[in-house]
Amino acid sequence: MNLASYADLAIDLVNTQRPQGDDLRDLDGLRALLAHRPHLGGRIAHRDLYAMRELRAQLRAIFTSAARGDEDDAVERLNTLLIHHPVHPQIARHDGHDWHLHFNESGSIPDRYAARAAMGLAAKIADRGIGRFGLCKAEGCERVYFDTTANRSRRYCSDRCAGRPSVTAACHPGEPRVTATARDGAQ
Ligand SMILES: [Zn+2]
Repeated sequence: MNLASYADLAIDLVNTQRPQGDDLRDLDGLRALLAHRPHLGGRIAHRDLYAMRELRAQLRAIFTSAARGDEDDAVERLNTLLIHHPVHPQIARHDGHDWHLHFNESGSIPDRYAARAAMGLAAKIADRGIGRFGLCKAEGCERVYFDTTANRSRRYCSDRCAGRPSVTAACHPGEPRVTATARDGAQ
């Protein structure tokens, strides 16, 4: 199992909030986020929604600090999350699969989500370095991403954003809207 893959939970949660709207405005939004995540199923209540929004703010702060180069602050925030949401590993065997690792099978959904997401981010940092946490540079987009390019050239969350004016370009209307380099930067 690849621990770093749990980092996607952090990205998916942070990206539920954008200037245009909030996917976690109600319980249906939370259900949509948790769909297709069999280990994060169960009944949810409004307190879970509020806890997930708070977790989202904590995760976003990690990306924001990392993106502005404040690695110590990002790591301190992540370590706080890891302490508050410790991982409880269990070995399990079921449905024809051989023995494998499960995490935090009990506890509230926000707790289980937080433990996995924090563990995923920690593994990602250990694997690839914290400099790969990014904040989309397109104007009006606040999505976060991991830069997996060989030369750490990614600047946008998506190809769609790479085709729009960046925050920097918007401050200088006379400049070309998008350069070929900027477009190539999106993966
Ligand atoms: Zn974007």
